Amino acid sequence: MKVLVVNCGSSSLKYQVLEMDDASLLAKGLVERIGIDGSVIKHEKTGMDKFVKETPMKNHTEAIGHVLEALMDAEYGVVKSMDEIGAVGHRVVHAGEKYASSVLITEDVMNALEECIDLAPLHNPPNIMGIRACQELMPKTPMVGVFDTAFHQTMTPETYLYAIPYEYYENYKVRKYGFHGTSHKYVAERAAEMLGKDFKDIKVITCHLGNGASCAAVKNGICIDTSMGFTPLDGLVMGTRSGAIDPAVITFLKQKEKISADDVVSVLNKKSGMLGVSGISSDFRDVEKAAEEGNERCKLAINIFAQRVKSFIGSYIAEMNGADAIVFTAGVGENDIMMRELICSDMDQIGIKVDPKKNNIRGEETVISADDSKIKVLLIPTNEELMIARDTAEIVAAL
Ligand code: AMP
Repeated sequence: MKVLVVNCGSSSLKYQVLEMDDASLLAKGLVERIGIDGSVIKHEKTGMDKFVKETPMKNHTEAIGHVLEALMDAEYGVVKSMDEIGAVGHRVVHAGEKYASSVLITEDVMNALEECIDLAPLHNPPNIMGIRACQELMPKTPMVGVFDTAFHQTMTPETYLYAIPYEYYENYKVRKYGFHGTSHKYVAERAAEMLGKDFKDIKVITCHLGNGASCAAVKNGICIDTSMGFTPLDGLVMGTRSGAIDPAVITFLKQKEKISADDVVSVLNKKSGMLGVSGISSDFRDVEKAAEEGNERCKLAINIFAQRVKSFIGSYIAEMNGADAIVFTAGVGENDIMMRELICSDMDQIGIKVDPKKNNIRGEETVISADDSKIKVLLIPTNEELMIARDTAEIVAAL
């Protein structure tokens, strides 16, 4: 079965087509500037050069139309007709408490996703638009929703509840949800395979470190804790997000800066993290280059980031009563040799030792810990699209 994976943002749309018989990638692409001047589709059939076409696209339906056209193109396409696409898997950010796993999209599911807009006002609306656009153009093709929050739904109330008046949870569903679930699940499963163990019999700490960053504690095949919270602002320091801070800082800054609480939260989301501390960039490569040239605030930003990751690793080792493996993934986790070494430094007393030679690698699945490291440290490139395609194919095959 061929599966189309769609990930819709407010003005962009990423897609991949995978052949599920051998999990191979047939084509991938990106549509940018949907609904604004300069709309463009960048399509790439595996093994061929990129094909770039600028053409007006007023909305997501028009964007999907161009994607389907590219997929059926005589030269750059991968199917002769739309009927060859057996299913569409949609990445959806928030499913609240409704879904703990991927589901076939029905009108009931669409209603549930609409209800979650309050919880993810920036992400769910474009995700929903993408599904509607595909339904319009591919009315007979089954669609599956794969949710960023789903994998974390196994957390217990002790972990997901905030110690605030209980009515806020009952009335507004204020609680920890967690995000990046598809990535955490994918790399945790791969970790078990790499170590030759059963996923249901392993304790893994997954560190998804990219522009957005989160850690998860995965024990016996389920997530028991994660660092992001009610929103993706919580937890680790990120490219432009502060991560966890004392909430009283918000009202304090509101008064001092004479700005609204919304504006303070916007600063915490968009002007904080690596960017805020370094004053240079949210991109780790820029920050590290400046640090090498002697910029003290960049050095500080790097050390703050590493300290937070270390602190979550320690906390999850305590929560799980040990760990078999720590996994690094996403842009920074997969490529930043120095950062992985810094995070894992001085942890030999708790059984973590990275081998600098083995760690001298980027973007490849490998073990980077020393042979005598009690806790194995792994580098596993994430593959959320493959995970989405697998869930989609499995659900549709069972129909
Ligand atoms: P992601 O959000 O997963 O795409 O990750 C983006 C982040 O990965 C950016 O901050 C990049 O600077 C970082 N990144 C990508 N390649 C490298 C690299 N070679 N060294 C350090 N950071 C990198």
